[in-house]
Amino acid sequence: MVNPINNTFTKTLSKTLISLALITSFTASSQVLAEQEQIALTGEIKQGGLLVGKTLAQNTVTLNGKVITVSKSGDYTFGFSRDDKQSYQLVITSVNGDRVEKTLMPQKRSYNIQRIEGIKKSIMQPNPKSVARARQDSKQVKTARKVASSLNYFAQGFIPPIEGIITGVYGSQRVYNGVPKNPHFGLDYAGNTGDPVQAPASGTVLLWVPDMFYSGGTMIIDHGQGVSSTFLHLSNSYVKQGDTVEQGQVVAAVGKSGRATGPHLDWRINWFNVKIDPALVLKIQPLL
Ligand SMILES: [Zn+2]
Repeated sequence: MVNPINNTFTKTLSKTLISLALITSFTASSQVLAEQEQIALTGEIKQGGLLVGKTLAQNTVTLNGKVITVSKSGDYTFGFSRDDKQSYQLVITSVNGDRVEKTLMPQKRSYNIQRIEGIKKSIMQPNPKSVARARQDSKQVKTARKVASSLNYFAQGFIPPIEGIITGVYGSQRVYNGVPKNPHFGLDYAGNTGDPVQAPASGTVLLWVPDMFYSGGTMIIDHGQGVSSTFLHLSNSYVKQGDTVEQGQVVAAVGKSGRATGPHLDWRINWFNVKIDPALVLKIQPLL
């Protein structure tokens, strides 16, 4: 099947300029149009990175041929998974059919792998009731992360949810008795039970469950277009599902609920089902 967008492939760039914060690849022809329009992209082009772009609201944005939502103010976003090895073609097409495109190759990262031997069977194999509960929990989380709202709060940048020391990072993985476990996708902050947790960006509360099997008190906040924050092991929530929250608003309390060794905050960022590194979203500079 021929992608209709490819029909405009040979058209010259005439009205749109793409400017990438981290990649500079401007052609002479695009320079001419810099004063008329500017499309910008910010974020880190690496595994676990989230990119935030701005274009004219009426333009069409595709990533490897898949249309990406553009908000009324022109914001769009997409991200790369922990082990992403593919290259991406970002194409922006104006209503006149003029287009700009850019190849993005997420930079490879290396993660901390820890090998642990001699783990007891009881820890490695939870009972069937717990397995069923955990499966139900994960279904709920997955459903919440599928929400594609028109909110564009992700474009305003993120702040750390608490002031604690970072005790766990994105991408790290433990191998128990030779069996690799799921990598750790959150940013762990040290904290005490009851410490206030603030919303890293504004949004809508998609989910609050006080007692998930592994993650205990679990909250998901939608920041728009598939970008969500998840907090794990919470001891309390000060908001409920459907509430609108402001960046910096105290929404929950640190805890050690679920399978946590001690009180801490585990903060995760997703772009739909793609697990993003929260440490990288903290570096995103909002585009004006
Ligand atoms: Zn964690």
